[in-house]
Amino acid sequence: MTGAGEPAHNRYSVPAHSPCQLTETPPLSQPSTADPSPRPSAPQEAQFQPFRRIDGATASGLLIVADHASNALPADYGTLGLPPAELARHIAYDIGVGPLTEALAARLGCPAVLAGFSRLLIDPNRGDDDPTLIMRISDGAVVPGNAGVGPQERACRLKRFWQPYSNAIEAAIDAGFVDRQPPILVSLHSFTPVWRGWPRPWHCGILWDNDPRLPQALLARLAADPALVVGDNEPYGGALSGDTMFRHATSRGLAHAIIEIRQDLLADDAGIAEWTERLAPMLGELAGDTEMHDIRMYGSRTGPVPALGS
Ligand SMILES: [Zn+2]
Repeated sequence: MTGAGEPAHNRYSVPAHSPCQLTETPPLSQPSTADPSPRPSAPQEAQFQPFRRIDGATASGLLIVADHASNALPADYGTLGLPPAELARHIAYDIGVGPLTEALAARLGCPAVLAGFSRLLIDPNRGDDDPTLIMRISDGAVVPGNAGVGPQERACRLKRFWQPYSNAIEAAIDAGFVDRQPPILVSLHSFTPVWRGWPRPWHCGILWDNDPRLPQALLARLAADPALVVGDNEPYGGALSGDTMFRHATSRGLAHAIIEIRQDLLADDAGIAEWTERLAPMLGELAGDTEMHDIRMYGSRTGPVPALGS
């Protein structure tokens, strides 16, 4: 419900102006106020980290990435005009993926890179030219802070959030090459139990494009548990030009897979522990398979794969 004539989002913190557009002018105001006065302090902004890296051994042969691990927003973006409860929903992040990434990295001794910002700000799992990079509406929720995003603000969010996270993944992969151990790339996500009124039957899904090495090995191992309903490119297809796997794994010939787990199964410590116990032995075993570390270009079902660095 809204007050007479007042949009609901006015009750919540939203930049009065684009923070990025304001960076080229003298120090500006708290963006949620109409009156321009000092903008959030530099130290406050400096504290916001667009990614988090968990150190691990390149000898593990694995790198875990978590595009949607965080629902964090920098202070100068407020809540993007959303009621805080919306930031606790799946539209802001993948519930359970952060703790699962931490647990798997600890168990396997492998590095991991986790995005430190909400996908509502900018989606790190989209290409930089993807029309869904910055969503104005997500699962029915209008995002007021994204309503007026133009090319300059888009470029700023790319530079401030999307690119540093992408660079961190590249750096972690490069470290593996330096140590002559190109990593298997594992991307963790979670999905909602119900979508548009339809209960999703899968406990987890393996998403992939053309490189069958890791996906088929994981599907075979997960299928050995009769209690599990496992999606093969469900609940989503795994081929998306420009997404994280496309840019960092397909384009470099790295064996890779997206593992999607239903959110209600990662809702508490017991769920995190159960999925860590399930996945860690599989991933550890497969990381020891030399075929998984060959550089092989399988291309993409989506079309041409740009040459590295282009
Ligand atoms: Zn996700």
